[in-house]
Amino acid sequence: MIVAKNISKYYSHKEVLKNLSFNLDTNSITVLFGPSGSGKTTLLRCLSLLDYPESGKLNIFNSTYDFNSKLTKNIKPNSKINLVYQQLFLYPHLTNRENILIAIDDFNSSKKELFKNLTKLLEIEDVLENYPNQSSLGQKQRIAIARVLILEPDYILFDEITSALDIVQTNNIIRLIKDLKNKGIGSLIVTHNMYVIKKLADKLVFMQNGKIIEEGGSEILKTPTTVELKSFLK
Ligand code: ADP
Ligand code: MG
Repeated sequence: MIVAKNISKYYSHKEVLKNLSFNLDTNSITVLFGPSGSGKTTLLRCLSLLDYPESGKLNIFNSTYDFNSKLTKNIKPNSKINLVYQQLFLYPHLTNRENILIAIDDFNSSKKELFKNLTKLLEIEDVLENYPNQSSLGQKQRIAIARVLILEPDYILFDEITSALDIVQTNNIIRLIKDLKNKGIGSLIVTHNMYVIKKLADKLVFMQNGKIIEEGGSEILKTPTTVELKSFLK
């Protein structure tokens, strides 16, 4: 379980996350959506502890992070939660294989087995010795996903990663995220792809202008209760 209480985040003087409180079930799939600039990526960065809110508290798998305290600077990322970036951030001077293994200190036999399984599942075995700029966007997205999965997180944040995938690749990612869920690894996915939402979302969260406006099951798409979501869906 992830519990956020009164999370606020500023970029210079602009309040980008406005006193957000919510719970995330880490065994299920939540879809976060909303207009561009509403703070979705910022929220994912805060949840992965890459970036710190100015105030509020997070509880991630029973570790508590209190951003109201002055000790915030000493916070280390929590290995149980990991983020697949929208911009992917693959290192151009490293091969795809080296990119996937960048954070692995001990490439032991169990990691080798996992690497083999992941690269097969994601259909990237043939491009491992290539560099990212010799790979298609869909391949790069799958390399970035493999780099996160090899770390064996318990919860994964996906930031608009299916946007450049065709329907076959999108279905592969849908299947992968479902398989992960069956193993108890939930996800928070930022997407506007209605097909992905219908196939995957256990819960939907609509965000606008730094606030959570509406949340619920798929019924909120059919019968939104807030003016904001109604007008967003038009
Ligand atoms: P979304 O992912 O929903 O499109 P973002 O979280 O990327 O939204 O951005 C939310 C707001 O914060 C936007 O107004 C954006 O311009 C601003 N913002 C995002 N990152 C930064 C940054 N590093 N510095 C200053 N402003 C930022
Ligand atoms: Mg974004």
